[in-house]
Amino acid sequence: MIEIREAGKQYGGITALHGLNWSVQEGEWWGIIGPNGSGKSTLLQLISGVEKVSSGEVLIHGKPASAYNRKILSRMMAVLQQDGLPPVHYPVREVLEMGRYPYQDWLGRDEGGDPDALIENIMEKLQLHALADRPLDELSGGQRQRVALGKVMAQEPQILLLDEPTTYLDIRYQHQFMELVAQWRKEEGITVVAVLHDLNLAAQFCDKLLVLRDGQAVGMGTPEDMLTEETIRLVYGIEPVIVPHPVSGIPQVLVTRQR
Ligand code: ADP
Ligand code: MG
Repeated sequence: MIEIREAGKQYGGITALHGLNWSVQEGEWWGIIGPNGSGKSTLLQLISGVEKVSSGEVLIHGKPASAYNRKILSRMMAVLQQDGLPPVHYPVREVLEMGRYPYQDWLGRDEGGDPDALIENIMEKLQLHALADRPLDELSGGQRQRVALGKVMAQEPQILLLDEPTTYLDIRYQHQFMELVAQWRKEEGITVVAVLHDLNLAAQFCDKLLVLRDGQAVGMGTPEDMLTEETIRLVYGIEPVIVPHPVSGIPQVLVTRQR
């Protein structure tokens, strides 16, 4: 579904990615982890076609991401950032409807079925009914990010790209957000690629992790294989202890203070 071959990206004199090889199959949930500046957002921008590769290729269904018509690409792929929506004075329902833009013809008519039923369904799933007429700028950050998720759901993509979507959320909203994505994936079989800073959250939700450092892949594989003390020490320069989660057994990362 996503095929990355020897992809490199340079910004002026800075090399953000060096010859990366990676592929994502339909229905997988990948996490991308790595320190600040390791090239995670750059990689997402190459996949979403916002940036072009300097060398190599990024293929979506066999075609270069940058060669797609924007509207066609938006039907296939949605992107959600850390602050998914600016706090503008638009009511929640209208913001969700904006997610339908890639399906509208030049008269604003929806070419993709019944948008009203879809929006209703999304409001139900995300418990947004109570907020439907409230303007975005009066919502909390956690509520706003839930609306942002609703807007990308209305886009009905096959691929969801997330760039640190939970950064500004408290621990409850972080988990709520990830559970909503997990549920969506289960129901619709979407493919998810998520840049996550929280390694423990990444381990709990992603099937596989791509570990980046200095624009290069240090490893790719299951959370069990990637979250080792050796890899975390090498990539982040910290002194980690990996313990199995007492309930699920999934690896979790603790950090020991240096004295
Ligand atoms: P991450 O998301 O892992 O923090 P980025 O992909 O944002 O990393 O950045 C990787 C490197 O590329 C950094 O050195 C960053 O400064 C540089 N970079 C990213 N975007 C740009 C840009 N638009 N112009 C110049 N340099 C950039
Ligand atoms: Mg980034």
